[in-house]
Amino acid sequence: MPEKIHKFDTKVQHLKYKVLREVARAAFNDNLLENITEIPKIIVPGPKPSMRCCIYKERAIVGERIKLAMGGDKSNPNVIEVIDIACDECPVSGYEITMDCRGCIAHHCEDACKKGAIFSDEHQKAHIDTSKCVNCGACAKACPYSAIRRRTRPC
Ligand code: SF4
Ligand code: SF4
Repeated sequence: MPEKIHKFDTKVQHLKYKVLREVARAAFNDNLLENITEIPKIIVPGPKPSMRCCIYKERAIVGERIKLAMGGDKSNPNVIEVIDIACDECPVSGYEITMDCRGCIAHHCEDACKKGAIFSDEHQKAHIDTSKCVNCGACAKACPYSAIRRRTRPC
């Protein structure tokens, strides 16, 4: 039996391909502008969503991808354009105290933080007050147990 060939590593790659295919097809047929609101419905026919909470959000994200496929925002100097609606559930980058925190007596993390952003709970475990944290990383360097890590958005 022949081995199954996977053309796309992820669902997102497949989605990008489908958007490009439909945009190219409409451009080739010279009716891209007329079809611009129909393409999301072709790609996300519903009624059930496949990746997000609902088909309306999936269609809105496809709408943003269509804009990118048509050249994106020319006034944006960044190499990468972020689709806000697609990224709003992803936690922002920053430092976090992990389960590895031993609630050590010395609390070097607290001393290292010049913003007073670290506090302890009743078990002496450390926590970061994100409203005060400026993501300098001093606490992570100071922790002898490597219990503080920088979380980054995968994209
Ligand atoms: S984060 Fe590290 S330095 Fe801070 S209390 Fe926990 S173990 Fe101690
Ligand atoms: S990253 Fe910097 S500001 Fe944020 S808690 Fe750690 S030491 Fe404080």
